[in-house]
Amino acid sequence: MLPEHILRSYRRTDSRPTDPPKAIMTDIPDRIQEIADQYGIEIIRDPESDRNHGANAGDIIFLGEFDDPDIEWIAFWHELAHCLAPKLVLFGRGQHMSMISSEGSAWELAIGLAYMHGYEWGYYSKELVWARQQLATYCRNEYLEELTAELDGG
Ligand SMILES: [Zn+2]
Repeated sequence: MLPEHILRSYRRTDSRPTDPPKAIMTDIPDRIQEIADQYGIEIIRDPESDRNHGANAGDIIFLGEFDDPDIEWIAFWHELAHCLAPKLVLFGRGQHMSMISSEGSAWELAIGLAYMHGYEWGYYSKELVWARQQLATYCRNEYLEELTAELDGG
């Protein structure tokens, strides 16, 4: 499902019933491929993935279609951080203490890695605002359940 703002602009510019707009990005941008290659990570564009989302499995990053290349760029760093976390954050441990810890440390590692490669975002940049919004979704999902269980004596 396309984001509502894209659907709206699509409807506005073309009232005929036609195919939905084509994917905005299909190729992997050079800057992403170059960094991935440096870390031995494979990048796969996955149009079946959720729009504006990435995922990872071992040394593979899956990128859905992104509406904004700047958001895709920081999302890539986040997925790269997940791939590198077993070595750089967990020191070989099997798992993070919690989902929010995994996501938060992946964001810190992502921003640190990007900084190391010469990229930096300000606190109010659209990239970091988006990153904080992503992180906040995990707070809601994980900690509300835990806090509720605690209050219930569970
Ligand atoms: Zn994540």
